[in-house]
Amino acid sequence: MSILIVDDSMVSRIFISDLLNEVGYADLILSDSVEDAYQKIGFNQPDKMETDLDLILLDINLPGTSGIDACRELSAHDIFCDVPIIIISGADFLEGLESAFTAGAIDYITKPPSHTELLARVRSALRLKSEMNRRKAREEDLMVLNARLAEVNLELERISVTDSLTSLANRRSFNEFLAREWLREQRSQQPFSVIMIDIDHFKKYNDHYGHLEGDICLQKVAWALQGALCRAGDLLARYGGEEFVAILPHTHIQGAADLAAAFHSHVRELALPHHESPVSSIVTVSIGIATVIPNRNLSPSKVVAMADEALYKAKDSGRNQSVIAEASACDDQTVI
Ligand code: GH3
Ligand code: MG
Ligand code: MG
Repeated sequence: MSILIVDDSMVSRIFISDLLNEVGYADLILSDSVEDAYQKIGFNQPDKMETDLDLILLDINLPGTSGIDACRELSAHDIFCDVPIIIISGADFLEGLESAFTAGAIDYITKPPSHTELLARVRSALRLKSEMNRRKAREEDLMVLNARLAEVNLELERISVTDSLTSLANRRSFNEFLAREWLREQRSQQPFSVIMIDIDHFKKYNDHYGHLEGDICLQKVAWALQGALCRAGDLLARYGGEEFVAILPHTHIQGAADLAAAFHSHVRELALPHHESPVSSIVTVSIGIATVIPNRNLSPSKVVAMADEALYKAKDSGRNQSVIAEASACDDQTVI
């Protein structure tokens, strides 16, 4: 903690500094002009800045830069703006005080100051500064805390919509996306496709290779499926267990069938051995596809159910293939 005393009168400087010394304020910076004071506190030199300054006692009537101008400059400074300034004024210069207060001073003493008056004002200004320091530190702590909280919230938000094993969208995220996109497509009357994907004979895979290998297989299949998506508006989610679902807004049946073919080939390219599968020597998937034009008589869950039904037909027909939901699966004949 240091106190800057700026006064062109040596008598006044010594009087004030002796008094402050006597009561234990040892770190005093004495200057006879604003220019000298600026030099000593590093006003324009960021690397030499006196960041520990707690109080400035400033003569109002100085040669060179006046006390009032200094008040204004110090109050506008990034670092020194929080340092309280007490004006030291001769009895004949009191009319200048108003300008000094406007310029940022918080108090004044008249020359020659009485011991009691000087110490009372210095102590109260220092108390003010220490309270400001405390508040500033608290504000900084709060800012750090808020930034951390925002990070944690973002992470929580990410976790709440993400499947932890595969990093795909989870079921909750799927439900929200489905409802939102369904409404949008209802307005635009564009085709809307849903693809259900299920790993074939995955129970046998787990039984043979172990649950841990099963998890790795799920991750690889998830990423292979994700790699087949090429439109930003599509969503691939983990529907549950070894089942995945893709929502394809604005996609007609041929587009969905092409994507299903890409899903098959991406999984095939993984070439993950599956010795227990009666279907193939490698891991394969079965796929159900449904495409509709959304309307009021149709619910999004109906389209998902249609894709699911088609998936089970693919299973029944020997697995490792895609089946497109038939128009009859939908009461409204909206399958296209
Ligand atoms: P199908 O070809 O008819 O789909 O047969 P399937 O064996 O794949 O289907 P079933 O529903 O009988 O078995 C699914 C298996 O998926 C059983 C379950 O242990 C496994 N499974 C589900 N979730 C996970 C998971 O997170 N990790 C692992 N390793 N296995 C899972
Ligand atoms: Mg399965
Ligand atoms: Mg299944």
